[in-house]
Amino acid sequence: MGKYVYLFHEGNASKKDLLGGKGANLAEMTGLGLPVPRGFTVTTEACTRYYNDGRAIGVDIEGEILKMLRTLENNIGKKFGDLDNPLLVSVRSGSRASMPGMMDTILNLGLNDEVVVGLAKLTSNERFAYDSYRRFIQMFGDVVMDVKKEKFEEILSEAKKSKNLKSDTELTAEDLKAIVVKYKELFLREKGSEFPQKPKEQLIMAIKAVFRSWENDRAVVYRRLNDIPADWGTAVNVQEMVYGNMGDDCGTGVAFTRNPNTGEKKIYGEFLLNAQGEDVVAGIRTPQPLEHLEKVNPVAYRELLNIAETLEKHYRDMQDMEFTVERGKLFMLQTRNGKRTGVAALKIAVDLVNEEVLSEEEALMKVDPKQLDALLHPNFDPVTLKAATPIGKGLPASPGAATGKIYFDAKDAVDAFNAGEKQIILIRAETSPEDIEGMNVAEGILTSRGGMTSHAAVVARGMGKCCIAGCDDLAINEKDKCFVAEDGTKYCEGDWISINGTSGFVYGEKLPTIEADMSEEFDTVMFWADKFRTLKVRTNADTPKDAAAAIKFGAEGIGLCRTEHMFFEEDRIAAMREMIISNTEEQRRRALEKILPMQKADFEGIFRVMKGRPVTIRLLDPPLHEFLPQKDSDIKALAEDMGIGHDDLVGIVAQLHETNPMLGNRGCRLAIMYPEIAEVQTRAIIEAAINVTKEGVSVSPEIMIPLVCDNRELLYVKNIVVETADRLIREAGTKLDYLVGTMIEIPRACLTADIIAKDADFFSFGTNDLTQMTYGLSRDDAGRILDTYFDKKIFEYDPTTKIDPQGVGRLMKMAVELARCVKKDIKLGICGEHGGDPSSVEFCHNIGMEYVSCSPYRVPIAKLAAAQAMVNTFVQTC
Ligand code: PEP
Ligand code: MG
Repeated sequence: MGKYVYLFHEGNASKKDLLGGKGANLAEMTGLGLPVPRGFTVTTEACTRYYNDGRAIGVDIEGEILKMLRTLENNIGKKFGDLDNPLLVSVRSGSRASMPGMMDTILNLGLNDEVVVGLAKLTSNERFAYDSYRRFIQMFGDVVMDVKKEKFEEILSEAKKSKNLKSDTELTAEDLKAIVVKYKELFLREKGSEFPQKPKEQLIMAIKAVFRSWENDRAVVYRRLNDIPADWGTAVNVQEMVYGNMGDDCGTGVAFTRNPNTGEKKIYGEFLLNAQGEDVVAGIRTPQPLEHLEKVNPVAYRELLNIAETLEKHYRDMQDMEFTVERGKLFMLQTRNGKRTGVAALKIAVDLVNEEVLSEEEALMKVDPKQLDALLHPNFDPVTLKAATPIGKGLPASPGAATGKIYFDAKDAVDAFNAGEKQIILIRAETSPEDIEGMNVAEGILTSRGGMTSHAAVVARGMGKCCIAGCDDLAINEKDKCFVAEDGTKYCEGDWISINGTSGFVYGEKLPTIEADMSEEFDTVMFWADKFRTLKVRTNADTPKDAAAAIKFGAEGIGLCRTEHMFFEEDRIAAMREMIISNTEEQRRRALEKILPMQKADFEGIFRVMKGRPVTIRLLDPPLHEFLPQKDSDIKALAEDMGIGHDDLVGIVAQLHETNPMLGNRGCRLAIMYPEIAEVQTRAIIEAAINVTKEGVSVSPEIMIPLVCDNRELLYVKNIVVETADRLIREAGTKLDYLVGTMIEIPRACLTADIIAKDADFFSFGTNDLTQMTYGLSRDDAGRILDTYFDKKIFEYDPTTKIDPQGVGRLMKMAVELARCVKKDIKLGICGEHGGDPSSVEFCHNIGMEYVSCSPYRVPIAKLAAAQAMVNTFVQTC
């Protein structure tokens, strides 16, 4: 039989997996001889068993808890439920990874109608005893018994209001006694039974409630956002209460060894006199800066400074500590590595290396790559943001902050921009290439449909613009140019809103933004990342401008240039459409001749910017629904341009309509159906390469054939490419090396990777489509389905943003192994959106890829994640 309960002095910091972060650190502090109230930890394994046993605590575990309670009583010399010398405990959650505020806590457990009288006598402080009891009923009622906190708050507010009081501390013992009576009446009304009076029963109920809170909504969302597996479970810490609410020589507070917002090396925190921990969190009273403690209790303040220094040295990282002062004496209730902003993370990492506390590799691991995102984009002023109330939430599709006037049509947005309006938010049900100009002039984009790899999301990330996708909290009416928020407020064209692409929140007002400012510390951390990583980082870029931005962030090549994206602009999309709807080869060649010089000029621009770095150019892969003209005005203009009748064109568009465009005539299928497309595109690439070479700039083109599921498709298109390229090179009398490879984005391509690899110089994994097809889940509609899956706890994370190692990842690993069997030196990379996601980058490193490719703004994130993957590999193999 296992052991499920540990006294604090039985554990230490290395037992985080078993005791949770809080439990392990309480044990470690106990071992260091710091003033920690005594207690024990019920392990994460007990939580796992609780769930495996159908949400029940086994008799053996309950027995162990009660036995440990007796040991604690003996050690402390107080007894649970004793009327003369009662033991009261706190019951707190604590998982392996810190999840601040996500799970539940119960304080003052052990009180009942009789014990409260004893406590009042013992402490000669009736006010304190009843204040503790009313807090306990409220917390237990809310957390354990599901009686809404607001109902208790109402009673408390009413009591204060009736006596014209502002603060809880002004309530007398008699007031609090009356509140306790009302609280208990509320409990009886709500639950149909009296408030539980047996302390041991209270304890077991509270432990179960903390286990349950592992599955509450906010904990589930937090885990998803922070890659914390659901099967870790939480531990529960049962600890002797110390009281910050016994009078003005008491209090409670939080302290950080360095400033968590700026990283400055100076203790930072808040303190609340005569209070318990939840008062700070609940924001009922405004805490004082920590320095206030120095004034009211200089001895405890100095002791806190000493402990802070000891703990930071011990843990070799910035610490976030909770403490309580009871009648002048300091107690430590928690320490953990402190959460910090991106700016602070970089500064602390660099400072700790300069202070010779950490090595560069260790310091690298202290920065969360995802936090760099916020640093590279404009952000909201944190103070204003805190005070703002969201009017809706969507998917955080492209990070950053944007505030502007709303427009519901790309053309209206462009007109407003041209008329001098510089802060614009484009709102669409979903975007299509027709919206590109509007997206271009907008500060941010919001759509009500679409997922993390929808058109809007992919294009916005590429542009480095903030975007929220799939925000169905807002009822958007494009026709009437307005939307209605969930609270019924209507917002019309020209009204201000603000959107946070990092969190997905929408605000119905103008919020001030702050420009990104890259610090010296950012450069230092990037320098370390480059030193340690082996995985290369390329970028997805479709224009010379995007390519130049990515080079600034340190991209080492282009992993994906989507050639159809070069035709988003208004003056180009017509040529592209003409090519798509051409009925004959002759017509198509005419359209392609219009496309050729545009593409050639773009490729030349990109090659010049990239200066010999590899550039992977993908042959056309336009899902037809994104490119066919929809609006009658576009159909009319195109018909005129092509010299065909309006009705004929409507007929052609209808004929080309596909039920499943994502599985339709796209990728290599288009080039197989119309070989002249591959031929002309190859001409554009090779002629551009030859021209730029002649200017003395070296070039490394890699021509990529998309959406291949069979090697015969690859061979067919490859033959056209090679024949065209070699002829052009021969005719130019020059030498030019180029590669021809394929995207691996269909499960069948993974399964037959050994056959396909024979004809490919490289593979680039298109994980957007590979995920879509492996899951059979449309990437454009995934958002709403996944939301339901998250709500119903079927999925823990979004596989369109993070590689699913069990399915999609398994296919990738298999393809890598099969390909390397037949071609040891085949180049392998990834260019789906996952290439900028840290855990996916680590996955790619681990399966032996050569590079990842991501949108320009995510290059630093991928570099840091690649370096961390390398350090992790090194640690594991040592
Ligand atoms: C992919 O499918 O992962 C990919 C990069 O191609 P696209 O997103 O253009 O379909
Ligand atoms: Mg694809």
